[in-house]
Amino acid sequence: MCVSNICEEHAKNELERLAKLIYYYDRLYYLKDASPISDYEYDALRIRNKEIEMRFPDLVRFDSPSKRIGVEGSERFDKVEHRVPMLSIENALSDKEVYEFIKRIKRFLRLSKESFLEFTVEPKIDGLSLALRYERGELIYASTRGDGRFGEDLTANARVIPDIPCVLRGICPKVLEVRGEVYMNHKDFLDLNKEQKKIGCMIFSNPRNAASGSLRQFDVSVTAARRLKFFAYGWGVVSDIPSDTQLGMVKCLSHYGFRVNPLTELCHNAESMIRSYRFFEKNRFALSYEIDGVVYKVNSLFLQKRLSCLSRSPRWAIAYKFLPEKAMTVLRAIDIHVGRTGVLTPVALFDPVIVRGVVMKKATLHNDYYISGDRRDLRLGDTVIVQRAGDVIPQIVDILLEKRLNTSIPYMFPSSCPSCHSPIVRYGQGYRCIKGLLCPAQALERLHHFVNAFNIKGLGIERIKKFFYSVSSSIAIKSPVDIFTLENRQKCSLDLNKLENMKGFGKQSLRKIYNAINARRVVVLSHFLFSLGIPHVGELVALRLARYYISYALFENSVKESLRNKDKTLNKAFKELLSIEGIGLVIAEAILNFYNDEYNSIFLERLLKEITILDEECFSIGNSPFLGKTIVFTGCLKAMSRAEAKTRIKNLGAKAANSISFKTDLLVIGSAPGLKLKKAADLGIQMMNEEEWMAIISSYDHVH
Ligand SMILES: [Zn+2]
Repeated sequence: MCVSNICEEHAKNELERLAKLIYYYDRLYYLKDASPISDYEYDALRIRNKEIEMRFPDLVRFDSPSKRIGVEGSERFDKVEHRVPMLSIENALSDKEVYEFIKRIKRFLRLSKESFLEFTVEPKIDGLSLALRYERGELIYASTRGDGRFGEDLTANARVIPDIPCVLRGICPKVLEVRGEVYMNHKDFLDLNKEQKKIGCMIFSNPRNAASGSLRQFDVSVTAARRLKFFAYGWGVVSDIPSDTQLGMVKCLSHYGFRVNPLTELCHNAESMIRSYRFFEKNRFALSYEIDGVVYKVNSLFLQKRLSCLSRSPRWAIAYKFLPEKAMTVLRAIDIHVGRTGVLTPVALFDPVIVRGVVMKKATLHNDYYISGDRRDLRLGDTVIVQRAGDVIPQIVDILLEKRLNTSIPYMFPSSCPSCHSPIVRYGQGYRCIKGLLCPAQALERLHHFVNAFNIKGLGIERIKKFFYSVSSSIAIKSPVDIFTLENRQKCSLDLNKLENMKGFGKQSLRKIYNAINARRVVVLSHFLFSLGIPHVGELVALRLARYYISYALFENSVKESLRNKDKTLNKAFKELLSIEGIGLVIAEAILNFYNDEYNSIFLERLLKEITILDEECFSIGNSPFLGKTIVFTGCLKAMSRAEAKTRIKNLGAKAANSISFKTDLLVIGSAPGLKLKKAADLGIQMMNEEEWMAIISSYDHVH
């Protein structure tokens, strides 16, 4: 229930429940190195608690989680008091909260909204915080965060971590308490678990638990063997502060002999702070250690002091955690999708869940092997973990077998095509319906592909479906040929079957559709070859074929010549086909198979009566640097219009797109570029300005 709707009684009960629950999880986490719920779920509990407390300040409990950090140290180790409390850091869960954090600080410092304020950004290491006290450069003690006031004495354990110097280098403050994170590299974590499994010991659920469990050992030799690492990023008591900025202090720590995170950087505004977050979010898996977000800190120590601390966290810092990429849900159904070439792709349908701010309700399962192949056994009703990482298609990454229902049964892949009910055949690790265009699902997909390739405006998938399933012979479009005969068939039809009398088709919109169709009765060879939907012949392959054969007649003759000869290896035409760059045996065979099909021959004969195929214009694009690339323009070009620029790159074998996506290869920047610039930067897309781009394309101009 939304916090603004709850009554006082309800709030009181919920606060009590939350206090108990959070304490329970904290104890497990701090004392047993275990976390049965995800960080995100845990944070959600804390946020809920805080929201209720903000609305009902009188109900804040004496044992409220908001007043406590972690739990009292366990009985296992001696207690150490932190002279400067070891606070935790407030969390931001969205860009908006980062903006608000900056606004709040400026308001507090009475700075104007536009005023300049520096922040450091550093990756948030997912490990265990440790405080190290040095006196006259010598390590005196090391302690964990504990509850923020008292931590556990782990001095002996800290001494065996190579990254933690027992004696500091150079001239340093008399008293210096260094704070940082003990963590474990991914590789060392996996090795450790392998070893643990071998000797029958506890398996750690993540690198953080492994680091914590390895550090908090009575037998120091165990800690020493665990290859723990340490990054220094902060400090507690310092007798004489050697710098006046956060970044300066981090540099000092490095001089004293600590490892500091080299990715720490300065940001000057909210936009660059968010950009930095996106960068880490995207590249986190390339790091050798686990990070779960970034931490922003006000760079000026003078301002940090003025901002001071709230009861639980400093006002001058905030952590922006990554949103979870995984979520738990229940598999409800498996849909079988029949593709254009008859490949059957199972699609998992599950209860909707939000992952990284997007509602997900289905994921591809690729093939049946993925459902019940090697040690996998996915069943309807199973509780599953779904993942959506970066640009990857959502997928099911885990099954929670302990939650499986007793009544569940193994999934049986259908033995026939769900569309045409004919038997299916093995195809790689999956299945295929081989009925071709006789299978309605394939025919519809092919029709859709054709319309897209021909770029016929006004025929979206919903309209195509309507035409495809129509039983009237003057309306039905079963194959691409029918598109071009529609207008004539309509002219001769009875009023009953006239489209203009039907819902959704006004006279004008119908005219528009006819015009769009007629405008495509003339097509260049490359578009035509692509539109046929021959397996493996995508836009680029079609373009290469067209550039080679130039005319359809030459292409068709060559294919027919190849088909006539039984022994293809001796066939000149077939060898020629294979000699074209990018055309291998698989593609060549697919083309021959397509032309060898009787149904396709009839189809082509009928289609060629309706349309004219233009010769491919001859450009020497063989070595075009843009061949097959997707290019986007932003800003105003000096030398030519946007339309001309697009034509130029198309002639060089590239594709022009209007917006930036992960498919974009290059962004060309004119004057006054728009938002695309930022997006491209975020995605790490190659960019060049108009002059650089012109220099490249003009070197190909002589060909025209
Ligand atoms: Zn079928």
